[in-house]
Order: sequence, then structure tokens, then C-alpha cells
Amino acid sequence: YHKENSIVYLNGKFVKASEATCSLYSQTVHYGMGVFEGIRSYDTRNGTKIFKAREHFERLLHSAHLMGIPHSYTVDELIQLSYSLLEKNNLEDAYIRPLLYMDENMSLQVKKTSSSNLFMAAWQWDKYLGDKRINVYISSYVRPSPKSFCIEAKTCGNYVNSILASTEARNAGYDEAILLDQNGNVAEGAASNLFIEKDGKLYTPPRGNILPGITRGAVIEMAKEKDIEVIEKLFSTDELYAADAAFLTGTAVEVAAIKSVNKIPYKKEFHHTITFEMEKDFKNFVRNYHDPAYTII
Ligand code: PMP
Repeated sequence: YHKENSIVYLNGKFVKASEATCSLYSQTVHYGMGVFEGIRSYDTRNGTKIFKAREHFERLLHSAHLMGIPHSYTVDELIQLSYSLLEKNNLEDAYIRPLLYMDENMSLQVKKTSSSNLFMAAWQWDKYLGDKRINVYISSYVRPSPKSFCIEAKTCGNYVNSILASTEARNAGYDEAILLDQNGNVAEGAASNLFIEKDGKLYTPPRGNILPGITRGAVIEMAKEKDIEVIEKLFSTDELYAADAAFLTGTAVEVAAIKSVNKIPYKKEFHHTITFEMEKDFKNFVRNYHDPAYTII
């Protein structure tokens, strides 16, 4: 993730990645109490642009708020910092990882004296699952109930569930895991949202048991522009199998078409699916993305 001369941001300063350190008594290291984001920048025709930067940093601060993690950053500052980070590392197409992690604290409370630190790194990271259509596996692990976790906070500890599911899927020879919710409805991927396509319409699980992704929002926006109806509703694994096509969305995976679920392939000719169109359109969407307030000249 970092090369010898990579620069990272740590607590108010840009430093060499090799010199950035954190305490082994951090509450985040032991208990997963921290929040983070995954963001991408693209070399667009308007210069290097961070895709939906505002939405991502708003979600980071919302996650911190839900978890009671103190900090003193504003969204605008964070956007500026992330552009500076790209500039210092000469990055165009990149993945940006901000992490708010806690100071030393071995207790199980956020104390009045607790404080957090901001670490932000960026590196080149290709489309997470590659450009091929993927084979997914319905995980034996379900998504944590929103009664146990703040499901809409992107909290470090929540990702143990994702790691278990994703590793199980990989070890069974699949590309990625699909997790169900507590009631057996389809929820999302290990770090992505899921859409299915049936008879010219798109369906995606509603908020409640998912992280409502920013890529998910972008796909809904793109579909509306093309007059493709998107219906947010709960659906079963039977409906997942019976769909014409399906795809995952997320910052790391971008739009990833699904080839099969538990080895059962989708039958519709791929080039005739909305999934195919969405994957293609998303590439154009990010390359033409224009956020006039920020740019690297
Ligand atoms: N669900 C989960 C659990 C995730 O970790 C992610 C990645 N942040 C997503 C969905 C997709 O969100 P986004 O499109 O904002 O990256």
C-alpha cells in the first residue's frame, strides 16, 4: 500500500509513511473502536477529481458522531487535505483511506478525556475484484443486526464480520461473499451493495441492514437519468437466483457484474442486461465527474 517515499497525513502533519506510528494501547487496535472511509480519485477530463468527496467525508464525520468519537475536523478541511495528499504523492487514479482512530485507552468507554487521531493515506489500487464478472457465495455469516451495531457507521470493528465472510468465500473458491440480514433477506456484499435486475427494473435492499453506499447512490442517480426504475425493497435468496442479472457496487469494487451465485449462473445474455450498461456507464460517470470547487491543476 505504501512505497518507500509515500507521504501520509497524521495528526496535522504530512509525514513519510515509514515514520508514521500509532500507540499499541490505542482503543482502536484492541477493540475496533474507530471509523474510516474508502474513497477514490480519478484522472478526469477536468483534472484529478475525488469522486463524491463531500459525501464520503460527511459519512466519515457522521460515523464519528454516531460512535461518539471526538475530533475537530470539518468536511471542507478534510476535502482539502485529501487533495493535498494526492498532490504530495503524485497520484491521479487512487484510493484514499482516512481513519479516525482513538488514543490510548484500555477501558470500554469513550471518556470525556478521550481523543482521536486522523490518519490518511492514498495509493494506487486497481478495481478490487478486477474487471471480470464475479462468482459470489451466500455467506454462512449474516450481517450484524442493527440492534447490536450502528450499521450505518463505517466502524473498524464491524469489518471483522466482512473479513470472516469474505475469507470463507475465497477459501471456497469464490470471488466474494453475499451476506443475508438477520431475517434471511439479502443484505449486501462484504464491502459492497447489491442490485438485482428483473424484467428491465433494478431492485436493491433498502436502508436498515446495509451501509447505504455512495456508489449505490450514484447508480440510482445514473439509472434515473436513463429512466430505469430502481425499487428499494427486501428480497429473498430465491429472488436473487431468479433475477436476470445482478451486480455489486462500492468504492473499491466500483460496479462489478455477478456471473453466478453459489455456482448457479445468470442466463440472460450479458450484453443485453442493464448490469452491462451500468458497469460501462459508471466508468464514464467517474471520468466525467465534475466537482468545480476542488481540483489539482
Ligand atoms: N457496504 C459495506 C459494508 C461497505 O463496507 C461498503 C464500502 N464502503 C459499501 C457497502 C459500499 O459503499 P460505498 O459505495 O460508499 O463505497
